[in-house]
Amino acid sequence: MDPKMDPAASLGERIGVVRARIAAAAARAGRAPDEVTLVAVTKLMPAERVREVYAAGLRIFGENRVQEAEEKIAALADLSGVRWELIGHLQTNKVATAVGLFARVQSVDSVRLAEKLEKKAAERGQALPVLLEVNVGGEASKLGLAPAETLDAARAIVRLEHLRPEGLMTVAPISQSGDAEEVRPIFRQLRELRDLLRQGVPLAGEQGGWDTLSMGMTDDFEVAIEEGATLVRVGRAIFGSRPGA
Ligand SMILES: *Cc1c(COP(=O)(O)O)cnc(C)c1O
Repeated sequence: MDPKMDPAASLGERIGVVRARIAAAAARAGRAPDEVTLVAVTKLMPAERVREVYAAGLRIFGENRVQEAEEKIAALADLSGVRWELIGHLQTNKVATAVGLFARVQSVDSVRLAEKLEKKAAERGQALPVLLEVNVGGEASKLGLAPAETLDAARAIVRLEHLRPEGLMTVAPISQSGDAEEVRPIFRQLRELRDLLRQGVPLAGEQGGWDTLSMGMTDDFEVAIEEGATLVRVGRAIFGSRPGA
């Protein structure tokens, strides 16, 4: 049994291990551990399990389906200081609900979706932070902007008055060998794309904005941090396996 994923370990212990691994990976890249935000991916986890990670100190939660998130957020409305982010594909008919629920939508995978979010955010008189999701690996099974279309998409999206683009997000392909090194080039390409955006579509800020790089999950977050991730989305390493998964 891999001690990193030991199902017998307590939630608190597993979170401690994840934090230590984040800190070690950041140190290897000459970065401070607090430059990397840990988002606990709570999809398929019942509200009671989310309560436990809240008690263990985590405050930012990632969900990939609007309806599931809506129920969970309602069940956990008594928890203060919580931030929910959408990390999965957003269907057009769920846009209005999503704008009311999430502090940020990480999975903006088309200009069309951005325009729909803009409309709903404008109706609510609200500014919505977003990340653009890029399908760096080019997998047919994944949504996301193609790297080659990301600059043009970004140019269109920065004109939308109620969206606040904050960076890029990617989901790396599952490594065939089980070795996370295999997906290092994916993370590097996302960072390079971010650097292009800073030059080509600069936002406010000293370096041209687009600061957030959301990349890395249970199987590959350390490599992602070495390549510049500022946010990792971790489910199984915190919760153990997911129900039904
Ligand atoms: C499920 C999911 C994660 C977390 O995956 P783990 O392997 O459990 O860490 C991260 N990002 C997205 C987009 C997901 O759907």
